[in-house]
Amino acid sequence: MAEIRVEKLHKAFGAFTAVKESSFTVADGEFFVMLGPSGCGKTTTLRMIAGLELPTSGTITLGGEDVTFARASRRDIAFVFQLFALYPHMNVRANISYPLRNQGVAKAEIAARVEETARILRISHLLDRSVSGLSSGDRQRVALGRAIVRKPLAFMMDEPLGALDTEMREVMIGELRALHDRLGATTIYVTHDQHEAMAMADKIAVMNRGAIEQFATPQEIYDRPASLFVADFIGQPSMNLIRFHGAARRGDTAVAIGEHPVGVGRIGADLTERALVLGVRPEHIRLVDGGVMPGRALGAEYLGTQQIVTLETPYGAVRARVPADRRVDRGELVGLDFLPERVSLFDGASGAAIP
Ligand code: ATP
Repeated sequence: MAEIRVEKLHKAFGAFTAVKESSFTVADGEFFVMLGPSGCGKTTTLRMIAGLELPTSGTITLGGEDVTFARASRRDIAFVFQLFALYPHMNVRANISYPLRNQGVAKAEIAARVEETARILRISHLLDRSVSGLSSGDRQRVALGRAIVRKPLAFMMDEPLGALDTEMREVMIGELRALHDRLGATTIYVTHDQHEAMAMADKIAVMNRGAIEQFATPQEIYDRPASLFVADFIGQPSMNLIRFHGAARRGDTAVAIGEHPVGVGRIGADLTERALVLGVRPEHIRLVDGGVMPGRALGAEYLGTQQIVTLETPYGAVRARVPADRRVDRGELVGLDFLPERVSLFDGASGAAIP
């Protein structure tokens, strides 16, 4: 069992708080992604779990054992970095076997484990090659090989695909997830790239300024963002956010944005008059005659079967993802309809989602 449990983990560097009382549990065998913009505390959290940084307070347990203050070498965690630090003067075989030689594992076992690792990563044919002549994808595979050959309890990966070009990154996303499904080792993966997170994660923690804004499955994070930050961060193009003042009663199924009543599914709380934000994803808007509010087409981005149309509404610009064969002329006045069940509401002051 390699469940990782983090409770009220906190890290201050002098007066600056890098990680604020974070709590989460990564189940045994889960692929967990920490996602957030640069500087939000992802790497610091990962380094504390791996034992490369000491927490200011809080606890970390690995497989039921409290390792909060245990040395990194006692945690049985393998780290994979963005800049795959391979030993340039060693060949692939020597790079992969390095951690085992370091641990004093018997020669025959090293040979067998390196062969097995190379087979899993499909780099058997490269074992006797120098690492300096390898492509970036193959270098990344060798770096992964050096991590998995140890058969650790858990993997920590810090932006491992950051140095790859888009095409290679796509390939490695598929390979990493397949590798995870095969090995089943608990993995914590850090990235600022939502696409990587959505494509690989069982669970995602979206982080902002040292705090976890939402901890959920990719689908929940996309469909039910817990805060304005998450709503804005996830989705390409991102969710439309319409700011307005309004009130509502628990059980209401519409809110009034100015003079426009907009269906929103059932509201779960009484809301006195206040600043609110209505969130709707571009794909949950339809262009119709009539509609809940008018919009004037400013332009369209053609995407083959679909297009992203930008519309000027009385409440600001709104983007709609509609079929490419829906002809929209620049300057045309159209009606917008929102799918009520897919609309989110947020408190304009705190940013929290309203149930
Ligand atoms: P990035 O992707 O840019 O690495 P991140 O989300 O991983 O971002 P961290 O590296 O965890 O962010 O850093 C969080 C904050 O803590 C940053 O503002 C960073 O400058 C600060 N920080 C990190 N390490 C130290 C340190 N040793 N001393 C002081 N501040 C630090």
